[in-house]
Amino acid sequence: MSVSELAEKIETSGIDIIRELMKIGIMANLNQQVDYNTAAKVAEALGWETNEALAEGRQPEDNFESRRLENDADPDSRQRPPVITIMGHVDHGKTKLLDSIRSENVAEGEAGGITQHIGAYQVDTHGRKLTFLDTPGHEAFTAMRARGAQATDIAVLVVAADDGVMPTTREAIAHIRSASVPLVVAVNKIDLPSANPDRVKQQLSETGVMPEEWGGDVPFVEVSAKERMGLDDLLEVLLLVADVNELRANPDKPATGVVIEARVDSSRGPIATLLVQSGTLNLRDVVVAGSTYGRIKAMFDDRGKRVRRAGPSTPVEILGLMEVPQAGDSFLVYEDEKVARQLAEQRMATRRVESLNENRPVKLTELYDQVKEGKTAELRVILKADVQGSLGAIQNALLKLNETIDEGVTLSVQLAATGMISESDINLASTTRSIVIGFNVRPDVAAKRAADTAGIDVRFYTIIYDLLDEVKAAMTGLLAPIFEDVTDGYAEVRDTFKLPSNDVVAGMYVLDGKIVRSSRARVLRSGTVVFEGGIKSLKRFKDDVREVAAGYECGLGLDGFNDLQVGDQIEFLHREEVART
Ligand code: GDP
Repeated sequence: MSVSELAEKIETSGIDIIRELMKIGIMANLNQQVDYNTAAKVAEALGWETNEALAEGRQPEDNFESRRLENDADPDSRQRPPVITIMGHVDHGKTKLLDSIRSENVAEGEAGGITQHIGAYQVDTHGRKLTFLDTPGHEAFTAMRARGAQATDIAVLVVAADDGVMPTTREAIAHIRSASVPLVVAVNKIDLPSANPDRVKQQLSETGVMPEEWGGDVPFVEVSAKERMGLDDLLEVLLLVADVNELRANPDKPATGVVIEARVDSSRGPIATLLVQSGTLNLRDVVVAGSTYGRIKAMFDDRGKRVRRAGPSTPVEILGLMEVPQAGDSFLVYEDEKVARQLAEQRMATRRVESLNENRPVKLTELYDQVKEGKTAELRVILKADVQGSLGAIQNALLKLNETIDEGVTLSVQLAATGMISESDINLASTTRSIVIGFNVRPDVAAKRAADTAGIDVRFYTIIYDLLDEVKAAMTGLLAPIFEDVTDGYAEVRDTFKLPSNDVVAGMYVLDGKIVRSSRARVLRSGTVVFEGGIKSLKRFKDDVREVAAGYECGLGLDGFNDLQVGDQIEFLHREEVART
């Protein structure tokens, strides 16, 4: 419903609704559509109970998932080309392999030649087609997965025969495995005299990637991207793997798929490369892509040729979207432009709410958990130091950690500068979700306050070794948070009573600080601790209370301790995570 409809329904002014929406990061006007979840959040914040029921004609429905699931079971589905991503360590020849496959299998002189790069291309071989995603490396792959998109059917892991398995090779394997994507290994650079394909097989089998010829399930193909050797074998193996996995889709329906790349062209407006995953995309179709939509004004294939339609596994570049979608966004075709617009707006609202949650600042102690949950793969650092000499040394040492640490997390330095930690450093940390590291420098008052408000993790060191050690520990999951007991207050037992239940409660007088219901109590009797545990009841007169301040009396019962005596002193404390210094 629209904001004004919502206002009417819950008997609130539109202004109040807009204010509530702003609190959750949504800038809306009265005519803007909000989806159920957003409306419910607002209504609840204003004291209403909400309950989702299906209303008649509830439109539009975001049915991408259901359409995608239908696909496998569709009796009208037909074989489609496999979509392939190439991964591997830097310099092992991913780009060269992509280029060689492309130029070998695309007749030169075709429209646009082979210069066009739209993020994906198709080749023909043995009378069949294969689609290659053109951004090598697993960053694009993982970024897409993070958005819930699975564009890849088969992963090709490139390993240079002279270099063998490297950290990024392992990382790529982990990503491929976790996505359950079939894997083919291309042992590259076999033209080199120093090539040792058997060593690659050995190393990979040690990481669990067992060659077929050794009884495993992973096809290995020896190639030279440079000398164009073995490329045809590789394509043939890829088609075999495609057949085994029965890649199918029904071309006779409205298209769905995923955004591969998108950008703005200064003269043509938003341009997006879409990979059609099922159905057929037609010129003039109305598509919703991520949180934008539009009618396709022009469509080009990977060779820059104008096309009118694109079937399953085909990449096309389209013009006509209102805004630039993000790589990894799903797209789907809608008949009605108005419905498409509403759906795009809904998705935009949902995305804002989600991005608010995602944008929680990173803490060093939580980094590894976040990596494990797939929420982040990067530790971003803003580095401030007292002098240029130590700044350079620390920056280099930090970046070196990327080569030695193989836990799926990379470190990047967003800013390295000398001088004290300023408010603008904190702001930068906040927008880039970085942590701030100070070496022999401290924040000024404004920066300290800003960091506390924004929840930015600011760490200080005076010894380079400590700094590196702790960052390393965070990246490998070995950095546990440090907790410290913080005293809330002290109180004294003035009297004791036995309840009918046999529990003993004490009449207390708060000497200092306060007692908080959630505190732990540490009972001290003539200087020794006789009990430590939780609070069972805290009352002022007959009422349960959450806090009692110094100078007041209260009744206190402890969890599992009935031996309070007059004169006992009790320390109340809670545990707090402290920043390491
Ligand atoms: P990427 O970082 O994995 O994309 O690697 P590139 O494709 O940029 O290749 C890195 C270097 O290895 C380049 O200098 C290539 O020319 C070279 N290279 C790639 N494939 C081969 C090959 O099969 N044999 C030889 N000798 N060199 C290759």
